[in-house]
Amino acid sequence: MTSTTMTSTTMTSTTATGTIPALPPVVERIYEDVLRRNAGEREFHQAVHEVLESLAVVLNRHREYTDLKTVERICEPERQIIFRVPWQDDRGEVHINRGFRVEFNSALGPYKGGLRFHPSVNLGIVKFLGFEQVFKNALTGMPIGGGKGGSDFDPKGRSDTEIMRFCQSFMTELYRHLGEYTDVPAGDIGVGAREIGYLFGQYKRITNRYESGVITGKGLGWGGALVRTEATGYGAAFFAAAMMAAAGESFDGRRAVVSGSGNVAVYGIEKIHQLGGTVVACSDSSGYVVDEKGIDLEVLKHVKEVQRARIDVYAERVPSASFVPGGSIWDVPCDVAVPSATQNEIDRDAAATLVRNGCRYVVEGANMPSTPEAVGLFREAGTRFAPGKAANAGGVATSALEMQQNASRDRWTFEHTEDRLEEIMRDIHTRCFETADEYGSPGDLVLGANVAGFLEVAEAVHALGLV
Ligand code: GLU
Repeated sequence: MTSTTMTSTTMTSTTATGTIPALPPVVERIYEDVLRRNAGEREFHQAVHEVLESLAVVLNRHREYTDLKTVERICEPERQIIFRVPWQDDRGEVHINRGFRVEFNSALGPYKGGLRFHPSVNLGIVKFLGFEQVFKNALTGMPIGGGKGGSDFDPKGRSDTEIMRFCQSFMTELYRHLGEYTDVPAGDIGVGAREIGYLFGQYKRITNRYESGVITGKGLGWGGALVRTEATGYGAAFFAAAMMAAAGESFDGRRAVVSGSGNVAVYGIEKIHQLGGTVVACSDSSGYVVDEKGIDLEVLKHVKEVQRARIDVYAERVPSASFVPGGSIWDVPCDVAVPSATQNEIDRDAAATLVRNGCRYVVEGANMPSTPEAVGLFREAGTRFAPGKAANAGGVATSALEMQQNASRDRWTFEHTEDRLEEIMRDIHTRCFETADEYGSPGDLVLGANVAGFLEVAEAVHALGLV
């Protein structure tokens, strides 16, 4: 639960992840309302709180947003779908999971956002992700609204046929809500090319339509786009490079730590290496590996993508690497930290360690991996910080490029698509940077991303009338 208290000097709020400054009066009532109507959804509260903190300065300048309740409208999803997903495992045992799709905002285009399959998934997590997606998608400058979905299904240890049966059951309910002009899912944690294949196959079977634009992250042989697999990680590295360039620096000779070892992490590491940096550590939920020579990507890809094994197997195969079971990867000193695992993986203590060890850039590859206290600490310490909704927008931006190719029945080359991605990431950085300046907080990319994303959505919301 969140509560607001007045101490002798400042107002503070106590949230699930610690104590943060209370919101300015102009947005406080909106937040109280969100808390009341979405009880217990702490990640959603956290995501809304962070955006509202940034929007106070906009509402003070533009009265109409308060009068027309623009922020309230954006905080309320247009539609929330919850459904039962029954399926049978290989031994014949019946399982019941819960499926979600939160269609958050469609002012800029069809709902767009991934599906997450992970046991932690609940409505609050899907709503936080959907809410973030609205702003992220707006920042890409592409015509896509925001949504998110998933299930509390745990794919870990499941056979290929079990994954297929689950995906088919999930889509048997979800298909009626989808469409290339309505809602276009993609992957997220636990959902990659294999799952997208099974999901698309079932959609095609039920609807009898080869509607390529209904889902993104497809295989290259059946409507997928080059660079989509690499896009989120590459995009985060491009964003980091743009931040460094703005400060007159580059990746050259820099040490980086990238948490996670999924899609975002693997391709983030690949691009950082191409840009001249060295990634010395990565992780999974069992622990982390340190490799002072720089992570060997061939081995990492084989362990994670082919063997689907735990990260300690990397250390078994690479003599220069060591495996640390459990523990915090943020203890490893670095110049650039790229949290690419999951939400709230950097708490106040981890942030303090990073700052103490001289980390100068934190670039979020995952969605909301830093707690509000961690972000506050980075701000105080002058650590340059890029929020996920800006830094990891490369994935969804490339999904929009995939939709573009599907719509025109065209196929672009790797180089052309990567150039587009790099340009989009540079533009997002410029937009966040300039907006932060314009709204009186130079260098604050959190404020820049939230305000720039909001303004884009708000304009479309108004133009479309009260719908
Ligand atoms: N799940 C990714 C994200 O968080 C990608 C979504 C998409 O491609 O639609 O942005």
